[in-house]
Amino acid sequence: MTLIKVAPPLPQEVDLTTTYDAVIVGSGAAGGMAAHVLTDLGCKVLLLEAGRKFGITEINAELRSMEWPYEHSRRGDLPPGYHTLSFNEYEIRKPPYAQGSPFRHVLSKQASHRGADYVKNILVDEKQHPYTGTKYAWVRARLLGGKTNIWGRLALRLSDYDFKGKAHDGYGEDWPISYADIAPYYDKVDLLLGIAGHKENLRHLPDSLFQRSTKLNVAEVELRHKLARMGRVLTPYRAGVTTDGVKNKYRSRCMGRGACDRRGGCDIHAAFDSPTGLIYPAMDTGNLTLRSNSTCHEVLVDRATGKARGVAFVDSVTKRSLAAKGKVVILAASTLESARLMLLSKSPRYPNGIGNSSGHVGHNFCEHVMGPGITGLVKDLVGKPHTLDDGRPGGFYVPRFRNLADRQPGFIRGYGFEGSSGHQIFPPGSDAPGFGTAYKKHVRDYAGAYITMGGFGEVLPRFESYVDLDPVVEDAWGIPVLRFHYEFGDNEKKMAEDMAVTAKEMFEEAGIEVLNVRRGVLTEGWSIHELGTARMGEDPKTSVLNQFQQSHDVKNLFVVDGSSHVSASCQNPTWTIMALAWRSCEHLADEFRRGNL
Ligand SMILES: Cc1cc2nc3c(=O)[nH]c(=O)nc-3n(C[C@H](O)[C@H](O)[C@H](O)COP(=O)(O)OP(=O)(O)OC[C@H]3O[C@@H](n4cnc5c(N)ncnc54)[C@H](O)[C@@H]3O)c2cc1C
Ligand code: SF4
Repeated sequence: MTLIKVAPPLPQEVDLTTTYDAVIVGSGAAGGMAAHVLTDLGCKVLLLEAGRKFGITEINAELRSMEWPYEHSRRGDLPPGYHTLSFNEYEIRKPPYAQGSPFRHVLSKQASHRGADYVKNILVDEKQHPYTGTKYAWVRARLLGGKTNIWGRLALRLSDYDFKGKAHDGYGEDWPISYADIAPYYDKVDLLLGIAGHKENLRHLPDSLFQRSTKLNVAEVELRHKLARMGRVLTPYRAGVTTDGVKNKYRSRCMGRGACDRRGGCDIHAAFDSPTGLIYPAMDTGNLTLRSNSTCHEVLVDRATGKARGVAFVDSVTKRSLAAKGKVVILAASTLESARLMLLSKSPRYPNGIGNSSGHVGHNFCEHVMGPGITGLVKDLVGKPHTLDDGRPGGFYVPRFRNLADRQPGFIRGYGFEGSSGHQIFPPGSDAPGFGTAYKKHVRDYAGAYITMGGFGEVLPRFESYVDLDPVVEDAWGIPVLRFHYEFGDNEKKMAEDMAVTAKEMFEEAGIEVLNVRRGVLTEGWSIHELGTARMGEDPKTSVLNQFQQSHDVKNLFVVDGSSHVSASCQNPTWTIMALAWRSCEHLADEFRRGNL
């Protein structure tokens, strides 16, 4: 079933002899928002996307949100010839992880969820996209809309505890903006795309302009009450999902149906994705031209002025070399890919890569540390009637509570927990011992009584955490790949230890039987929240971009994705990426009109 009745707009003819007002590289959250804002303001924009263009019908055929496990010949598993990288492979081996693999296709750990078959054409094949250096679980999606096709939709705001972290604890750099600068743009994103949530009036996790919240179930409500006694908050998952509907003919409101948790996206596009939320509406203005299968490898520079004049790319299918011209170039290829593009764009004028006079491109890399968490059993719920908990975009979120009013002895900054409870399409506890009728009864009786949560903690940005170009290894298109120089530090390890302690203390306080406390830290990269490789700042010697994500060195070059973030915060980044991109593109359009670019 699909409720989408509108075909996507007809594509505009790509004309590589034209000089577009702006050329955008990448069509995920950042590139989609840039395209949306600029075309709305009347700019003629060319959007280059390395991956394939799946139209609405094609992407829905991939996602199959309503398909039951038994309707799939392998219960959602991958076909023969595919291999998913495991935690052990990331930990024991070094990248490139697919090198020498006997399998025809190798996918990142993201395909280890049940239902990997639904994302096999969305995640990149690691064989074509190698990287080197220190261990790192890098999850990438190369297609129209990038990772937004399968993102987890937890949509959180940052606060001045994040933007002004240095002022709070003395570490790192403050952002060149404060919450007041970005708040109006968070509002715009909320109204345009829709977000479900519940107001809590927290200074460290500002509320959005929420649509109808998803419901907490019995166990979650109980935990919320118990945590309140500890001065901690449990709030319904703040989902980048429209529950009341938005003015967008390509999207329906959430019907509380579908295998939301299968990480296969939403086939009625109630959950935000960049194509239906941003790109198709931008195409409807008549101002957006999209070229998919366009793998960009260099920002081209005008020798006389030093300004960006366009982008060199290869057709991802034919491998033909091509170029596109633009008065402004906007990089939005995602944090690591935008840094790679800047480093690849070496010229006599910019020998260290474009926009890199500071030497900070690729550095100050940060993200979220994951691993520690807990699973418990709410005994009162064993054997109780089944409820539908799968058809909702998320369970709950416990916002940061460390290092706000208090000062922890072992670490600075904080972490939050994502969690859920209730009945799911794949019942937890199905690995219980036994067989036959008794086993089935056990699984059914216990399925809705489990509750689990896991931490997401702020990784500190450090100059010595960086990526550069590998001097030898190239991807399938002959483009030098990234080499990682990055590992968690002491602050992250101490924070992770604390996550396990507080998770246990919260469940015990709530009277939940603790079944399993997870203390191990997952491989770097696991959170899929890469940030910080071209940070903003006031000083061109220690930052790459100004507060409008505009290169200090090249005034008609903008980098509007998470690479601009000065610190990671512990809140998920996508809503901030889009709010910042909106703010920067409004500024860009103003400057463009004034002839300043
Ligand atoms: C399973 C999963 C769960 C997640 N859950 C959450 C969550 O709950 N909350 C949250 O805030 N975030 C979450 N994220 C992260 C979120 O998806 C990203 O923050 C967001 O998509 C970043 O947007 P972006 O535009 O920077 O990058 P992307 O969405 O990755 O888009 C980048 C685009 O650029 C294209 N591209 C790359 N290189 C080139 C090139 N050389 N030339 C041309 N095009 C190029 C790519 O193909 C891609 O389409 C999750 C991600 C995944 C995969
Ligand atoms: S629960 Fe809502 S957001 Fe999730 S797949 Fe169903 S309709 Fe989409």
